[in-house]
Amino acid sequence: MNKPRIVILGAGYAGLITAVKLKKELGYNEAEITLVNKHQYHYQTTWLHEPAAGTMDPERTRVDIKSVLDTNRVQFVKDIVIEIKKDEKKVILEKSELEYDYLVVALGSEPETFGVPGVFEHAFSKWTVNGARQVKDHIDYMFSKYNNEDQKRDELLTFVVAGAGFTGIEFIGELSERVPNLCKKYDVPQEKVKMYVIEAAPTALPGFDPELVEYAMNLLESRGVEFKINCPIKEVIEGGVILADGDEIKSETVVWATGVRGSSIIEKSGFEAMRGRVKVQSDLRAPEHDDVFIIGDCALIINEEINRPYPPTAQIALQQGEVCARNIKALIKGGELESFKPDIKGTVASLGGGEAIGLVYGKKIYGNSASFMKKMIDNRSLYILGGPGLVMKKGKSPF
Ligand code: FAD
Ligand code: NAD
Repeated sequence: MNKPRIVILGAGYAGLITAVKLKKELGYNEAEITLVNKHQYHYQTTWLHEPAAGTMDPERTRVDIKSVLDTNRVQFVKDIVIEIKKDEKKVILEKSELEYDYLVVALGSEPETFGVPGVFEHAFSKWTVNGARQVKDHIDYMFSKYNNEDQKRDELLTFVVAGAGFTGIEFIGELSERVPNLCKKYDVPQEKVKMYVIEAAPTALPGFDPELVEYAMNLLESRGVEFKINCPIKEVIEGGVILADGDEIKSETVVWATGVRGSSIIEKSGFEAMRGRVKVQSDLRAPEHDDVFIIGDCALIINEEINRPYPPTAQIALQQGEVCARNIKALIKGGELESFKPDIKGTVASLGGGEAIGLVYGKKIYGNSASFMKKMIDNRSLYILGGPGLVMKKGKSPF
């Protein structure tokens, strides 16, 4: 009998952990497993605000896929997914095609603009390794350019972050921490640098603990960050942003962090979706497609307690990867499929410079202890992917 063909799309948190766990769950002759990813490396998405602001070498966030995957057991294909032909049970890649018996879609997310014009043309919105490199290089360039022009243009030293969600807050935390060094390095008076975080909702970090939000805002303001709350961005233009009240902020650097939607491959392939996320069955399969699992940021699951979707996080993506691997094993070898229920341990957000805020098992933490916790969480995801060896190689010192 032919071995069932399992194809996994995307080697982020969800896809890579599915591949790593499937290799453990299934014997050599029980399945043919293929992992497809557009790069030869996995990256720690949850760290990207650091290289983007220039406080971490981007190399640190990358993990060579072949270093954590047994390629005798899981075939790795470096290629770009173009479309899923679910009725023909095949995937169209840029350079080839793959047929499957079971498919795992773990292609992550794309920036959400909510229809705001100009984002893709004039803002930095890609939270990827290459995106982070570009933001960092651009920031450095703005500092060098400022002093090299005869006319001192304030917009070169004005940095706008769109969205005070966790991504925006973590990014400005790193940038605000780095600005004094940048000023020293490029002979720029620090009072010339303006950092804005612009948020549409009536508070930063909407839905998070108000006391911790206040802690974060006070700390960031003490480093020179200015918040504009309840103030949606209406348009991004060349050289700045236009706010809903008509005001304009001139800036040569707009970093977009207003949330995410699931991969565009989902809608392109004809899955019914809400903002690119498929409301999956409890066992993580797509409705009416029992051979397709959708996990990570492409999946939508409802928190029944509040009747709202869980936010897309690495914490959930990793847990889904494990359940997905066990459910594929059950389909192949027999057994009950598991229902997925997220085990939310908490949320911790870094603020740069050894500072963070968090709610862990319902307990509020902030300052150095929260920063310690954040680094431990960051190391844990490395541990799950590649064991202690990967933590030693890429991990963060918690102190
Ligand atoms: P990803 O990790 O994004 O992986 C998707 C993979 O698919 C990538 O390898 C990508 O290259 C590949 N891919 C995409 N399209 C294609 C294609 N067409 N063809 C081939 N390959 C493709 N969550 C937390 O829980 N805690 C945090 O502290 C946290 N911090 C964050 C900080 C930042 C700056 C950001 C941006 C997000 C953060 N998140 C955090 C959210 C978290 O990163 C995501 O929820 C998580 O990465 C989702 O995992 P995933 O496997 O679905 O997608
Ligand atoms: P988000 O949806 O959490 O926050 C986006 C923010 O942008 C919201 O507060 C929203 O009101 C605001 N916004 C939307 N449109 C706007 C506009 N036109 N002008 C101004 N503000 C606007 O998105 P995110 O911060 O990108 O995070 C994405 C996911 O990743 C979330 O699930 C988040 O929980 C997760 N994440 C977690 C961590 C962590 O746990 N430390 C860090 C980063 C991201």
